[in-house]
Amino acid sequence: MDRLPTPLPNPASPLRLDRALQLLAQSGQPAPPGEVGSAAWLQGVIDALVELSSRDALTGLANRRSFDLALDIDHFKRVNDRYGHIAGDAVIQAVAAALLDSVRPMDLVARIGGEEFAIILPSCASAFGETVAERIRRRVERMPVTVGAGQQITVSVSVGGAFAPQWVRSTPALWAERADQQLYRAKAMGRNLVQLEPAAVSIVSTEEKRLLFDSTGFQDFE
Ligand code: GH3
Ligand code: MG
Ligand code: MG
Repeated sequence: MDRLPTPLPNPASPLRLDRALQLLAQSGQPAPPGEVGSAAWLQGVIDALVELSSRDALTGLANRRSFDLALDIDHFKRVNDRYGHIAGDAVIQAVAAALLDSVRPMDLVARIGGEEFAIILPSCASAFGETVAERIRRRVERMPVTVGAGQQITVSVSVGGAFAPQWVRSTPALWAERADQQLYRAKAMGRNLVQLEPAAVSIVSTEEKRLLFDSTGFQDFE
């Protein structure tokens, strides 16, 4: 396998990549593509570092807490009713663009329903998840959307969030369900709100506990 090249050939370079390259070489990653020092190569180094930092060294599995956000546009039926379906579509598109613009390139933004979205933030510290959720909420409420001839409206979103704690057994479905529960809370509390599940690792649903205990062979000890 190709090994990573040794540090950048230009000793005057202000970039200190030697430590990063050493770490990547130790992890057995293939050399980034392109000419050493080129933009493509540099991007390859960055991508490899991101990958390395989010993987567990022993198992190669994702090793960080991840965050799941569930979003729903508030009172969206009114938008359709007052301004028409095409205006509604413009609002959905504007919200989608605002979401994409509020996250990192490594995050996943998905439309999971008519005016419902989910965002997965891998390797995300709890404070960062909260920051992103609040950034999105504020961005949307301040964003004018043009619906028809010169007419501009604003909408708001309710956001629910849940962590996938590092070592807790769960499934994507159960995890998404927990984010959804927080979204319902945000709606019930008045909308245009962010509600996040407390970050404590002890918050595990009954189904998740069953997953854990079903697989540890407790019954063998009876
Ligand atoms: P809430 O604040 O409780 O979320 O109220 P809401 O009015 O937004 O309620 P709900 O989320 O149930 O409404 C979703 C509406 O979105 C119903 C449906 O007609 C409309 N819708 C779903 N998909 C599309 C779409 O692709 N375009 C448009 N324009 N409307 C859509
Ligand atoms: Mg909805
Ligand atoms: Mg809605």
